[in-house]
Order: sequence, then structure tokens, then C-alpha cells
Amino acid sequence: MRDKNSRVFIPLVFFLLLFPAFFFLPGGTRPCLSDTLETGGEAPLLVGVARADITPPVDQRGIPLNGYGARKGKPATGVHDRIFVKALVLSSNGLPEKESVRVAIVTTDLCMITRDIRREVLSKIEGSGIDDANLLLSASHTHSAPAAMDRRWLIERFFGDFDEELFDTITSQIAKTIKEAGARLRPAKLGIASTTAQGLNRNRREPTYNYDTRLFSTPSPPPEGDFVTDSELWVMEVAGQDGEVIALLVNFAAHATVLGADNLLVSADWPGAMQRSLEGDLKDTIVLYTNGAAGDQAPDDHVEGNDFGKMEQFGERVADEVRELLDGIEFKDEVRIASSMLYQELPRLSYKFLALPRFLTGRFGFETEAAIMAIRIGDAVLVGIPGEPIAEVGLEIKRESRKLGFKYPVVVGLANDYIGYIVNEKEYRKGGYETTMNFFGKDAGAIISEAALKAVKETLSSGTPRN
Ligand SMILES: [Zn+2]
Repeated sequence: MRDKNSRVFIPLVFFLLLFPAFFFLPGGTRPCLSDTLETGGEAPLLVGVARADITPPVDQRGIPLNGYGARKGKPATGVHDRIFVKALVLSSNGLPEKESVRVAIVTTDLCMITRDIRREVLSKIEGSGIDDANLLLSASHTHSAPAAMDRRWLIERFFGDFDEELFDTITSQIAKTIKEAGARLRPAKLGIASTTAQGLNRNRREPTYNYDTRLFSTPSPPPEGDFVTDSELWVMEVAGQDGEVIALLVNFAAHATVLGADNLLVSADWPGAMQRSLEGDLKDTIVLYTNGAAGDQAPDDHVEGNDFGKMEQFGERVADEVRELLDGIEFKDEVRIASSMLYQELPRLSYKFLALPRFLTGRFGFETEAAIMAIRIGDAVLVGIPGEPIAEVGLEIKRESRKLGFKYPVVVGLANDYIGYIVNEKEYRKGGYETTMNFFGKDAGAIISEAALKAVKETLSSGTPRN
């Protein structure tokens, strides 16, 4: 969404289209299902995984791609690489006096998860033991995955008409994958590690970044300026009791925009290349990827070249870092698991200097809440944020989570819903693309961080995370 003409228009479109979507949403802040703060003890771990192909049938009918308004709803012309949904269900079980606790971490090669998509999936998995309180549903943010899954009139003008069949097929595949993973639970052990991966990502709010070419004009950031990058690469490795690796879950903050608006082939962009590379190493291993607080994080690239070649190359570089991290990872087979979902009241919806009066918000039932989720896995916590927080917002959540005792906090952006970009006050005052796409004012970052910490704390209610 960032050719020169659309840079101003698209944010306005997003602002306007947010309205109708909120008519049907409940109002008020409530700790949603916080009594779901079920927490297992030091119980044996059970894990199940599954995946399904969600590549759209672009050869059968016109299906546009998401992410860049500059494509103007043009249909995809083919498939470069297939896209997937992958589900990892974890359960701590086996303590007779405790109810078993289950969480599902679901990743998709999609640009974003909308509330409609989440609701449809939840309705299709009713009775599975996975619900609003323990489903983390995320998108990799590839800008070459299908659009046409949004009924909102203004979105349809830019990203193509809502395709009922596509929406139904993809949400059904996501639901089926979650159910399959839940049905395959078996004893497992897991290990978590993280490292600083220098030189992979970079803050695109630097003046050296070109949003159209997606290239930095210099090989390294300017010495002056305050451009924060979160270079942490986080990985969780899950193995069966026999030691066979079942799944890897990778988190790294970088826009999946190696491919540009000129690409009309379906692709998972660099996260797909990274996952394929790692899946090639190990038979029967499913590699899942969640993006981080990537609002202002881009792949660090300053060289012109073939986009598909660069996409494979960048994916391979991230995969190599993951391989290094896996060396010497320590496994545990008893892990405390908990989940918490809360709905945080948002400030008034605004676009630049225009803010929607509160009485209108209430009267018309506009969006007033953000779904904030925390999933605790031992001394790690995954914090799901429904949009694109900038790195500084994510780093604050990680820093505060560490103070609570979590050794491996991680932020999952593009999770469960999409409320736009989320910037802090300092960056809000500087302006720029991300700020224009931040629809809830200067305090959005602080409000979301505070809510995230609340959710993280809730996962602690039965004791220390150190186990
Ligand atoms: Zn983005």
C-alpha cells in the first residue's frame, strides 16, 4: 500500500472502513474470560501439530493479492510458492487434581488476520477445546497472499470483491488444521532459545529507506538519529520423547515485503523461504513462523536484484541463524502453560487531526477494543498484538515481561485482529507512514503495552514462571 498516490489515500480508506466493522462489536473493557487463567502445574507436556495448504485457486478465477493498494485489486496471475496454515497445540496434562490446559499457536502465510477471519475460525472449531481464550491466530504479513476475504466496501474497492468461497475454504482449512493438531497430542519436550541476529533487519523509518523499492540507500544505518531495531531471533524447538523434532516455532520482526506491488504471483515471501529451508533439514518437522513488532522493521537490503532470488536468500539467512540457535538447546518435558485474553478499551478513533467523538463511537458501536493475548510456555511468554506495533513498543513489552521473571518474552504482531499500526508518542510526533496508519492517537503504544503487561501478569497467577 505504498505507491506515491496511495500513501495518503489508503490510510484514509483504512480509517473510514474501520467504522462499519465495529457495529457488531461489544463495548467496554472487560478482562475477557480471565477466569480462563487456567494454569497447569509441572505437568507432562503433550504436543500436536498439523498443516494445510491454503494456496488459492488463482488459475480458476480472479483472486487479488493483499498488502499493496498499488496493485489496485488486480488478480494474481499464478503461484510462485504455496502458502500454508500450521497449528501447534500444546497441553500440560497429567496432574489429577488439575484441569489440563491447552493452547493453540496457529500461523498462516497471510497478510493479516481480521476479526471476521478469527470469528469464523472460532465458530468452526467450537467444542474442540480451543476458543477465544487460548487461540493465538497470526499472520506472517506476506504481501503476496490472497486478499478478497474482507466484506468491507472500501476494502473491496482496493483489494477486490469479497470472495465467499475463498473465505470459507481458508477459514475451514485453518479450523481443520487446529482440530487435527489437537487430535494428535503426544508426549513431547521443548526447548527455547534466542539470540541477536545482527544485520538482518533494520528500522525503515530511516530517511535512507525507500518504501517503493523497499531498499535502504546505504549499507548501514546513519550514525545520527534514533532508529530502533529489534534484532532478536527467538525459537522454540519441540521434540517427541524419542528425540525426533516435531516442530520449530520461529519469531523474528521484519516486514515480509521482499516482493513488491509488481509481483502478481502468490508467495509466502521470505518467511516461506525460511520455513521451506528448515523443513528441508528434518523429515516430518513443521516449521512455524510468527512476525514480531515489525511495524517499522524491514529486511536489511540495499542491493537491487531479482526479488525472488533475494527472497530465497533472506529466508536462508534467517534459517541459518535458527540452525545456530538450535545447537545446544536444552529440553524440558514438564512445562507450565497458561493463556490470557483481554479486550483493552482504545482511545478515540482518529486520522491525523480528525478524531471521532466518543458519543458517536458509543452510539454507532464503532471499534473500541483491542484483543490482547498472552500465552505462557514455561519461562517464555508470547504476547499477541492485533496489528503492527513498532519495535520500540515491542521492546518495552519484552523488557517489562523480563522484569516479571520471563526469560524468553516474545511479541507476536498481526495476531487475532488488525487495528493498524501501533506507535509510541515519541514516534507519533515525528509523523511518517506508520504514524498515519496508527488510528488511535499518540497514546496507542502506551495503552497497548500496558494491556499486554496485564495479560502477561495474568499468566503468572499460579506461581513463578521459572521452571
Ligand atoms: Zn505492514
